[in-house]
Amino acid sequence: MSKDYYQILDVDKSASQEDVKKAFRKLAQKYHPDRKTGDEAKFKEVSEAYSVLGNEQKRKEYDSYGRTFAGGQQGGFGGGFDFSGFQQGDINIDDILRGFGGAGFGGGQRPRRGRDISMDAEITFKESIFGTEKKILIAKVSKCSECDGSGAEKDSEMETCTACNGQGKVHETRNSIFGTFQTVAECSTCAGVGKVPKKKCKACAGAGVRKQEEEINIAIPAGINDGEMIRMGGLGEAIKNGQAGDLYIKVHVAAHETFKRSGANLVVEVPLKLTDALQGTLYNLTTLDEKKLEVKITPMKKTEEVLRVKGHGVPQGSVRGDILLRLTVSLPQKLTSEAKKLVGQLKEHGL
Ligand SMILES: [Zn+2]
Ligand SMILES: [Zn+2]
Repeated sequence: MSKDYYQILDVDKSASQEDVKKAFRKLAQKYHPDRKTGDEAKFKEVSEAYSVLGNEQKRKEYDSYGRTFAGGQQGGFGGGFDFSGFQQGDINIDDILRGFGGAGFGGGQRPRRGRDISMDAEITFKESIFGTEKKILIAKVSKCSECDGSGAEKDSEMETCTACNGQGKVHETRNSIFGTFQTVAECSTCAGVGKVPKKKCKACAGAGVRKQEEEINIAIPAGINDGEMIRMGGLGEAIKNGQAGDLYIKVHVAAHETFKRSGANLVVEVPLKLTDALQGTLYNLTTLDEKKLEVKITPMKKTEEVLRVKGHGVPQGSVRGDILLRLTVSLPQKLTSEAKKLVGQLKEHGL
């Protein structure tokens, strides 16, 4: 966890969404660069923290994994910062944030970048241990294959964009609770290019991008944990005249009926009959990669013991973790009258 967002907003981990919002509003007003108490770095920091904690979904991801798939940590400010978390219908917060899209905020325009997208992939337990490849079909906005992203018909000439007079930028005046901001925004007609094609590409209507189905190969590495994310740079949504976003695959690992994972080790629960626990026995173990092993279990000294079978666990480079057999004594639910007599004799032996 690179930054503690809870600490930045000075709220408890158990704080309600309402409290998180209140804390952010207080700090945002305090640190807004237009204020006497302003501090641009601090303001960005609290905004980043709020963009995660203020969004229930992202907060959950942050709590579980210490990161989010499209949150502030990824692109950081200035690179694909996601403002969606701010659209909470709160006019003050909205105003504050509008204020730093443009000139009022150091004038830094963020680079054009397509949206990050996320997908889920289900894999089996075995696939998670040994790695696998998955083909997925995804419908997303990508570069138009007809015009190769130019938005123009093949033989079309380009002409100056009339919306921005070829500047690629338009000036806007915005009002906020801190005063009026002059902002420079990219021209939406020409996507900042300053030129538009005389004849637009028919497939994408001049947009240069369109929703298309694409088959993507995902290499899922060996040893991946349930809930882990794979980032595929540049495979997110495309944008005209800019960089494509990233694709994040959240991997869900199905439970296995025998094995559970514990770091590099695989754990198997082995309930033993009372007599096997007392006398020891041989246990037939089939490893996750289908190897048959005969494991010698010596008489147990306690009701619970862990037996380590070296290797055969999760691959870690050239070595592998172990299989841990968790032995427990399984007491009989019923005794025949003969068995009861024998237990009586055991009792006479001090057992
Ligand atoms: Zn096109
Ligand atoms: Zn334009």
